[in-house]
Amino acid sequence: MRAFGVFPRNRTFRLVEHPEPAIESGSQVKLKMLEVGICGTDKEIVAFEYGTPPAGSEYLVLGHESLGEVVEIGPDVKDLRPGDLVIPTVRRPCPHEHCLPCRADRQDFCTTGDFTERGIKEQHGFLADYVVEDQKYLNVAPRDLREIAVLVEPLTIAEKAVSQLWQVQARLPWLCKFEPGKAAGHCHTALVLGAGPVGLLGAMKLVLEGFQTFVYSKISGSAVKRTVVEQMGATLLDADELSLDDAHRVAGQFDVVYEAVGASKLAFDVLRHLDTNAAFIFTGVPGRRGPVQVDTDQLMRDLVLRNQVLFGTVNASKQSFEDAITDLREFRRRWPEAVQSLISARYPLQDTHVPLTGQAGGIKNVIAIH
Ligand SMILES: [Zn+2]
Ligand SMILES: [Zn+2]
Repeated sequence: MRAFGVFPRNRTFRLVEHPEPAIESGSQVKLKMLEVGICGTDKEIVAFEYGTPPAGSEYLVLGHESLGEVVEIGPDVKDLRPGDLVIPTVRRPCPHEHCLPCRADRQDFCTTGDFTERGIKEQHGFLADYVVEDQKYLNVAPRDLREIAVLVEPLTIAEKAVSQLWQVQARLPWLCKFEPGKAAGHCHTALVLGAGPVGLLGAMKLVLEGFQTFVYSKISGSAVKRTVVEQMGATLLDADELSLDDAHRVAGQFDVVYEAVGASKLAFDVLRHLDTNAAFIFTGVPGRRGPVQVDTDQLMRDLVLRNQVLFGTVNASKQSFEDAITDLREFRRRWPEAVQSLISARYPLQDTHVPLTGQAGGIKNVIAIH
């Protein structure tokens, strides 16, 4: 069968003829892959900055943001049947007995670093005609999400972040006064840094939770992004026109900041505009561009005297996938055009290199396999 392989040793990537996987244990499921989304992680892997093939393989089959259709089930599979649409999780647990998160099926919090990730670290990914996976890593999506379900995996970043936000903020009286028709966060403001897929999906999640949401991003080149932000009812703060101080004057201080750029200088500049009791969520992974200057006295004073919290979040649990499936449906009910326009283009498997090597613009580019 066809698969897209990355060969780190020869620094090449191409379609390969890969052995078609078969069900080997009772709890396994065979999937026909329908779609795979391309993100910054994939681009880093084909730039050979990241990504490790499985032991004994020269190449890594790429792809982690996926949508598949069940074509065959093992004898012990209970809740899935052929024809079901599923989204696999990405990270698999480490083998160590002392890793409490992995032993509790929370490998997204693995402490040893010996986890594996499909399409990223020591496990083949989903850019292939067929894949075999254990039922415990599969999440069923309703049929009517077929056109957009490839967005579930990137949305899980926001789902995990916002569920932690509520848990972290349970440290103080932070719940807004109940108002009929308004969601739990209606008395708070949130600032999203960045208007890529992670930023825009994060903004949608924050709007859904009731936050008055602002998106700060250099957006002048993209009318689509501007429209998406407006359609979801968030406010665009155009970084081409507004400095951070201007943005702060427009929007006030922020109760939540959701960082989705991976730009540390910007992130630490924004910290100055964090409100008392606020939470700052890091989701981006910056390249190592060397030290930036930060007023650490000011930072530490604010953290202490204003009870602020900073936390980072990576990957996601099965629960976050289930939440993402539910919320993606709600996003589409509220903002059908905005959700549709997050997917900019679809490419056939043989053209995978086009969105991977930066020749495609837009928001989310997708490889349509079947
Ligand atoms: Zn990704
Ligand atoms: Zn672990």
